[in-house]
Amino acid sequence: MSCVLVDGYDEQLDDGEWERREERTLLSYIESINAEAATGISAIAPWMKMGRSETADTSYLANHCEACGALQGDWFLSKLDHAFFPQDLEAARRLAVRPVAGHINVEASLSWSSWHDWLALNDSDVRPSD
Ligand SMILES: [Zn+2]
Repeated sequence: MSCVLVDGYDEQLDDGEWERREERTLLSYIESINAEAATGISAIAPWMKMGRSETADTSYLANHCEACGALQGDWFLSKLDHAFFPQDLEAARRLAVRPVAGHINVEASLSWSSWHDWLALNDSDVRPSD
């Protein structure tokens, strides 16, 4: 199970202007993504692909069960104590961080949380998870 985190981004405002944000942010409900980034993510996490969720009534880049192919919805990923809301540094460090080269251009939901800062994005000793 994977999620996409960015270490800063440009956001298009309602008036069409772009504004730089330096916050580390978790992306969910990625409804559109550029091909380059989709390919990069797919190389690392082939279980992440576009899929239709009846619950969310939309299609987005979602985790899929590797055994049966079922879509695993984004709604719980960043809920307390689920995969992407660890409660302490040790749990956060069990998440494997994999860089994706190039630019990512998405329509997505954003979320911010203090645990994101526990991830050492350039730390080679972050251990892989299952
Ligand atoms: Zn399954």
